Amino acid sequence: HARLAPRMNGAGSSPTAEISNKVRALTAQGHAVVNLGEGELDFPTPEAICAAGIAAIEEGDTKYTAVAGTAALKAAIRAKFARENALDYSDEEVIAGAGAKQLIFNALLATLAPGEEVIVPAPYWVSYPDMVRLAEGVPVIVPCTPADGWKLTPQALKQAITPLTRWVVLNSPNNPTGAVYSPEEMKALTEVLLGCPQVLVLADDIYEHVRFEGAFATPAAVEPALRERTLTVNGMSKGYSMTGWRLGYAGGPAWLVAAMQVLQSQSTSNPSTISQRAGIAALEGGRDFMTGWLETLRTRRDIVLDMIARVDGLASDVPEGAFYVFADCRAMIGATTPAGRVIASDLDVATYLLEAAHVGVVHGAAFGAPGYIRIAYAVDTETLRAACRRIEAACRALS
Ligand code: PLP
Repeated sequence: HARLAPRMNGAGSSPTAEISNKVRALTAQGHAVVNLGEGELDFPTPEAICAAGIAAIEEGDTKYTAVAGTAALKAAIRAKFARENALDYSDEEVIAGAGAKQLIFNALLATLAPGEEVIVPAPYWVSYPDMVRLAEGVPVIVPCTPADGWKLTPQALKQAITPLTRWVVLNSPNNPTGAVYSPEEMKALTEVLLGCPQVLVLADDIYEHVRFEGAFATPAAVEPALRERTLTVNGMSKGYSMTGWRLGYAGGPAWLVAAMQVLQSQSTSNPSTISQRAGIAALEGGRDFMTGWLETLRTRRDIVLDMIARVDGLASDVPEGAFYVFADCRAMIGATTPAGRVIASDLDVATYLLEAAHVGVVHGAAFGAPGYIRIAYAVDTETLRAACRRIEAACRALS
């Protein structure tokens, strides 16, 4: 629209939200649609965390706080980084915001001059490129391959860096592939970055605790020399099933955190007081519930992988973390649906599965990797089984 700012050019709303809209429309027509498109756990937020939020309301802890979070929340964040990641941050080096998403957006907005580049390995979380564009930067997409476990290689990173590179985004475990960088793989990337002092590192650790195999590695801990130019982002959404509470946090150099705080103070101010109290309970409360969650998620992952193994048109390796299977659907392209339509792309595969199987998945092109679909298995196990049977039947109906 002519009245919109130029910075709106090329930035769209999230494709995962579009799938959710289609799912809602079909549901409204009376269809029992299963949405495997959304990156959200079905588990309820643990009770003790909810109780802390309720206590905040009952005790009248419902007013403005310091923009970057209360002293108590900051202490809990610092203790978490020290305990779990061997990262020591001061109060000036941590900030809480309304989700990891807001923190990443503010970090980019605070640092990018028009035309500066941000390296985004593909497949990527859908929001990174659009956030970069909204901040008037240029996303530089670096494709990763299944042969490399969907991980950025040191060579590819090196080749992508130019004098204009301002950031590189590293997301492990990865959305949408579930790939987890080993400490050695992370170290190899940090070694490249040591030689490029103009580059900042954005570590998106939001799926840290959703891991089936392998150790977790975050760049600032793997290479302490990068600590002064790394923003380590994390949050409550995935590891505590708190997506709706909107609470994330980050640790990084004081100059960057201060700038993010300025943006926050002039836009959204402090994250919800109630969520902050709940967040303290989460960070200080132990993670015993996670063992059960991971057991359930592993069962579900295997349900999806078993279905894929039975279907000719789909293929996938075993993802190590997050709650997604990123399945190769290239063998389905060129097939004809029972209605006589030819499937020409991964978007057609997703549309066919939605219309024929009433299952919502997201097409790989949305993550910068056409030819694949992302199946999020964070729904109730029996529902997932039913959805997988329907996907299987729909795939078999192709000719
Ligand atoms: N980073 C990645 C890789 C994600 O997948 C998501 C959520 O889907 C986020 C960040 C955003 O998390 P939050 O709910 O804390 O904003």
